[in-house]
Amino acid sequence: MFEALAEQPSDSLLALIKAFAADPRPGKIDLGVGVYRDEEGRTPVMAAVKAAETILLREQDSKSYLGPEGDVAFVERLAPIVLGAEQAASPRLAGIQTPGGSGALRLGAELVAAARPGARVWLGMPSWPNHAPVLKAGGLVVTSYEAVDLAGQTLLFEAMIAALSQAAAGDVVLLHGCCHNPTGIDPDAAQWRVLADLVARRGLVPFVDLAYQGLGRGLEEDAEGLRTVLAAADEALVAYSCDKNFGLYRDRTGALYVLARDARAAGAVASNLKALSRVNWSMPPDHGAAAVRLVLERDDLAAQWRGELAAMAERIRAVRTALAAREPRLAFVAAQNGLFSNLAIDRSGIEALRARHGVYMADSGRINLAGLRLAEVDRLVAALDAVGAF
Ligand code: PMP
Repeated sequence: MFEALAEQPSDSLLALIKAFAADPRPGKIDLGVGVYRDEEGRTPVMAAVKAAETILLREQDSKSYLGPEGDVAFVERLAPIVLGAEQAASPRLAGIQTPGGSGALRLGAELVAAARPGARVWLGMPSWPNHAPVLKAGGLVVTSYEAVDLAGQTLLFEAMIAALSQAAAGDVVLLHGCCHNPTGIDPDAAQWRVLADLVARRGLVPFVDLAYQGLGRGLEEDAEGLRTVLAAADEALVAYSCDKNFGLYRDRTGALYVLARDARAAGAVASNLKALSRVNWSMPPDHGAAAVRLVLERDDLAAQWRGELAAMAERIRAVRTALAAREPRLAFVAAQNGLFSNLAIDRSGIEALRARHGVYMADSGRINLAGLRLAEVDRLVAALDAVGAF
C-alpha cells in the first residue's frame, strides 16, 4: 500500500542545516535555524536548567507514568509567568503540559475542532511555516490574510483589522504573542487593544502562540499583548513553548492554556484535553517540564534563569542595534523583536549569499539575528550589499 503515498517535500530548513554543516569555509555564517546562539555561536544548556537537571538526577526516585496531563505542578507554576497572576488563578482556566509549543498548537486545534467541527482559523501571513499545516492537521479550516509588508517592513494593521472584521463569531484568530516569526514585527500596545476590542465585539476566539517569551522586550513586556487580549475575550487559547526561553528545544517542553466561558466549561475543556493528549502521545515527555518546574520552584534558580534569559535578549538587541547602526537600510532591524527579521530578498540573492559568501538564511529571507556575532556585522552587510539585497 505504501507505494500509493506521494513523496513529501523535505523541510528546507533542515536541508539548510545540513548544507551549512557540510560547508568547509571557516567564516560561514548561519542565520538559518531558529535557535538562540551566544557570541561564540553555541546554543548552551542554560546554567539554571543544568542545575535543575543535576537535582533531578540526584533526587528523582521514579520514572513511573504521570498521566496525559503531564506534570501538573509545572503547568501551575508556569501559568502566572505566562498569563499574569489574575488569569492564572481564574476558575475559567484549564491547562495541560504538551510536547513543545507544536504539541500545544496541535492539541488546541483539535480541541476547537472537537467543540465545533469545521471551525475556521484566521492566520496572518507570513507566519511560521508549520502553523497552517499543524492547524489544518488539527481539523481547522485555515484562512490566511496578508499581515506584513516585507518591502516596507511594516505591519499591515488596517488590512489585518479588515480581514478579521469578516470573521464570524466563534472563528479562531491565531496571533503571535511576541517576537513574530518570521518578521520580528509585533503589534504595539494600542494595536493590541484594538485587537482585543475586535475579538470581544465579534465573539472571536484568540489562539495566541507564545514561543519566545523573554527573548524580546522582557518577560513581562512580551506577555502584555497576550494579557490584553485574554482580558477581553470570553474564550481563548494559549500555546506556550519553553523550548526557546529555557533552551530545552529537543526536550519538547510546552503547555496549552485554555480560557473557557465559565468554570463548568473549563472542566469540560480539561477532560477533553486529557482525552486528546491520550490519543496523540498518551502523555508528554517529562524531563524538560520537570526541569522547568524545579527552576520555578526554587527562588535562586528562578532568579538565575531570569538573569540568563535577560542576557540572551540583551545580546539579540545588541546585534540588532549594531546592524542598524552599521547600515541605515537595515534600520528597521533595531525596531523588531526576538530572534527573527525577514529580509525582502529574492531567491537568487539568497542563493548567491550562500554560494559566494557562506551566509545561510531560510529560503524565505528570514534571518536569525542570534546566529550573528557582533564581529560579523560588517561582513554580513558587505555580503548583502554585494548581492544587491538592498
Ligand atoms: N510557534 C512558533 C512561532 C515557533 O517559532 C515555534 C518553533 N520554531 C513553535 C511554535 C514550536 O515550538 P516547539 O519547538 O516548542 O514545538
